[in-house]
Amino acid sequence: MWTHAFESNPSDLEKYYLNVAFPYPSGAMHVGHGRTYIVPDVVARFWRMRQKQVLFPMAFHVTGAPVVGISKRIANKDEKTIRLYRDLYRVPQNILDQFTDPLTIVKHFADEYQRVMTSCGLSIDWRRRFITVDPTYSKFIEWQWKHLYEAGHVMKGAHPVRYCTVDENPVGDHDLLEGDKAEVIKFTLVMFRFGDAFIPCATLRPETIHGVTNLWANPDVTYVKIKLDGKPWIVSKEAAEKLALQDHTVEVTGEIKGSDLVDKKVSHPLCGEVPILPAPFVDPDMASGMVMSVPAHAPFDYIALRDLQQKGQYTEIKPIPLIKVEGYGEVPAQYAVEKAGIANQMDSRMDALTQEIYSAEFSKGKLFDKYGGKPVRVARDEVAELMQQKYDSVVMYEFDQRPVVCRCGNRVRVKILHDQWFLKYGDEAWKQEVQDHLDTMALVPSEVRAEFDRTIWWLKDWACTRRVGLGTRFPWDPAQLIEPLSDSTVYMAYYTIAHKVREIESKLLTPEVFDYIFLGKESEDLPEKKKLDAMRKEFLYWYPYDFRFSAKDLISNHLTFQLFHHCTVFAGQKDKLPKGMVVFGMGLLNGAKMSSSKGNVFLLEDAVKEFGGDTVRMFLMGSAEPWQDFDWRNELVLSTKKQIERFYNTVMEIKDASGEPHDIDRWLASRLQMHIAKTTEALENFQTRQALQEAYFGIETDLKWYRRRLPKDCDGSRELHDLSSVWVRLLAPFIPFTGEHLWKELAGEGLISFAPWPVADEKLVSPKIELAEELLARTVEDIESIVKLIQLQPKAITIALAPEWKHQIFSMIATAQDKNTVIKEIMKDESMRKRGKETTDTAKQCTTLIHRLPPHVVSPLVQDPINEKAVFDAAKGFLEQEFGVPVHVVMAEEAGHVKALTALPFKPAIIIE
Ligand SMILES: [Zn+2]
Repeated sequence: MWTHAFESNPSDLEKYYLNVAFPYPSGAMHVGHGRTYIVPDVVARFWRMRQKQVLFPMAFHVTGAPVVGISKRIANKDEKTIRLYRDLYRVPQNILDQFTDPLTIVKHFADEYQRVMTSCGLSIDWRRRFITVDPTYSKFIEWQWKHLYEAGHVMKGAHPVRYCTVDENPVGDHDLLEGDKAEVIKFTLVMFRFGDAFIPCATLRPETIHGVTNLWANPDVTYVKIKLDGKPWIVSKEAAEKLALQDHTVEVTGEIKGSDLVDKKVSHPLCGEVPILPAPFVDPDMASGMVMSVPAHAPFDYIALRDLQQKGQYTEIKPIPLIKVEGYGEVPAQYAVEKAGIANQMDSRMDALTQEIYSAEFSKGKLFDKYGGKPVRVARDEVAELMQQKYDSVVMYEFDQRPVVCRCGNRVRVKILHDQWFLKYGDEAWKQEVQDHLDTMALVPSEVRAEFDRTIWWLKDWACTRRVGLGTRFPWDPAQLIEPLSDSTVYMAYYTIAHKVREIESKLLTPEVFDYIFLGKESEDLPEKKKLDAMRKEFLYWYPYDFRFSAKDLISNHLTFQLFHHCTVFAGQKDKLPKGMVVFGMGLLNGAKMSSSKGNVFLLEDAVKEFGGDTVRMFLMGSAEPWQDFDWRNELVLSTKKQIERFYNTVMEIKDASGEPHDIDRWLASRLQMHIAKTTEALENFQTRQALQEAYFGIETDLKWYRRRLPKDCDGSRELHDLSSVWVRLLAPFIPFTGEHLWKELAGEGLISFAPWPVADEKLVSPKIELAEELLARTVEDIESIVKLIQLQPKAITIALAPEWKHQIFSMIATAQDKNTVIKEIMKDESMRKRGKETTDTAKQCTTLIHRLPPHVVSPLVQDPINEKAVFDAAKGFLEQEFGVPVHVVMAEEAGHVKALTALPFKPAIIIE
């Protein structure tokens, strides 16, 4: 019945367009993905029932290198990859054999995604499904990029980029297994003369050359002799590979053991001759693999030297200070290390200490007069410049942290690309446009706004083309492809026409065609004008989108990129810019992060098979709000399944009730209006968990009490039928399969998916009736706990009610502006004063009671007090039925029992005989 039900066309209704970051279908969906798509589905279903025209589309992102890598590994019979696809994702062998073609992989999983999404009840308009390598989509991307280019946001240049030498491709955040926070840093290589060769050492502080006392070499590493641009160098093997990627020709000519370098001498014109010392801590994969040592200003060097000297070695070497920095003594590194009481190199505070000295010297340090006397911040650049001009230094790029690992398993390197194209996210004017628009957007939860603000101003120019992968050719350099994050930023607009644009031959889809559809620009000789008009109408009806949904890890790239692109493509059309975003938390499985590569996933399809689509939905929506992290645990999911069964059975039991209404029906009706209002409000704010608390647990608890309160041998009244109808509709967005089934049982019209959302009826709301029932329920609870405590079979129960003067005190305290003077106020009354200590005790008890009672009880109680006597008199029959003994209701002062005197408003004294 749903197959075509959610196909949505422009209509007279108000529209609601929501979309979600589309998936990259390179493997099976797990339950973490499930929530990403189920949250927007619940929201879509809610607004559809609110009688809006809702569009919820889906497509598949297949651009980029990952599937190309996967297909290569499968072609190469890589065991690990084959195991993942055959065993975890359960791809049949005959299909797996075809996975040597990357398009086959994404098409296979796109179909699987659609199948699993359908089994989860997602109300998607599947007519609009596309993949990002469809020829018509490529035409759309070309149009989008023409606008970016013409706005001056696309440029070509030489840039150091993260690069995988196996994939022969720049590497984006999404292509990384590890190190996505690593930044590229520019080092100066200081060239020490070693015989006729150079030994380069990378530094961020070239001015400290004057304080070099030695080099560090790792005695366990075999270094290589290379010819770099024709000159002989000695570096680590890793460094030779890296330098070859950075505009140098590198030829390896031989090897030399680290241990053979130890105790040899090197020299530099600015520091003279120094020895090479052994240092097992030197990492050959960091920069050149050799380190220059400045013990006076680098805590690591100071400690390493001290460790050797404590063994009696190299005792003739003394730190050579060259920078004066106030507050750090003669030798800053020594001063800081000794002050912190650092015992050895392994101390965890070393990084922080290094950073501290680095900052202090940079901000307020000055070189000694004999080295020029300039501030460090000036001298640093001058020395770097001098070294490059006179002393053979070159620049080397390196990451600020390691390891950085590609999805293919290869170490990522820094490569300088010359024909690399960039999107100029660094452009301040562009940033400001985006910021101005962001300020007008709705962001959920509101805490993410700061993160978006930060990302806008932190984004740097973005390498937007790749050499390998699937995707759209870059119009100004067809040998390259537009990279995946750059071709998925305005596709929300494409959804509005996706089902119609494919009726037109892709070669006819010129930029003018899209200018007409999306921007309303007329031009001559537009083809298929009728079809274009229909698409223009779709676009104008649906756009801009109302809300976009995505996980929070996309804030720092995709979610912000799409704002940049929208601002340019729809420049001058503010009414076409995105209106809102909802950002999700992450999914855990049994307390640990879900990860396909580590095998810690539970496939969504398995979850649906084992528990049912509705259970999966209700668990994911009920266990946390969308922006909170959630934790999937099978045992908890099982209890959700039982809840749905209970719901189903209850509705089946009560739907045909036909009795006459009782007093308690008015209470039930009043409560129901409150649940309707609160569920509605929660869903308007995307609070799926809060909504379920109201719509499921709230109503279930009320029904339990209602059925308990019915007179003996009485079925529920016929009004339970109406309640069933409301209840089933309130839960329909969460458990739509159960909803449709029960809707039929209730003889509802059409599909529940389009049934009108319940509206709270103010006329049925009675705070007074609710309050009276709450008083009764609380008293029953009190009696039960007392009976349990005394462990005696009671013979009779007396409920003693507080006298009027206590009600007065309660009311005065509850409404008092100044809690400190309220007693004085009370004592102004002659009769209160006469009661003396009794009055002050009651005031104290009332204060405590008011603190304990929820606000929804206290304020109506004061505004419109209930007649407690009438409430209990009317419930006498019920109480006697509940406890099986006579129940007396008396005013406390007539009870003749000392315990009765403890009665307070809304808290009668209970005397059990
Ligand atoms: Zn790679």
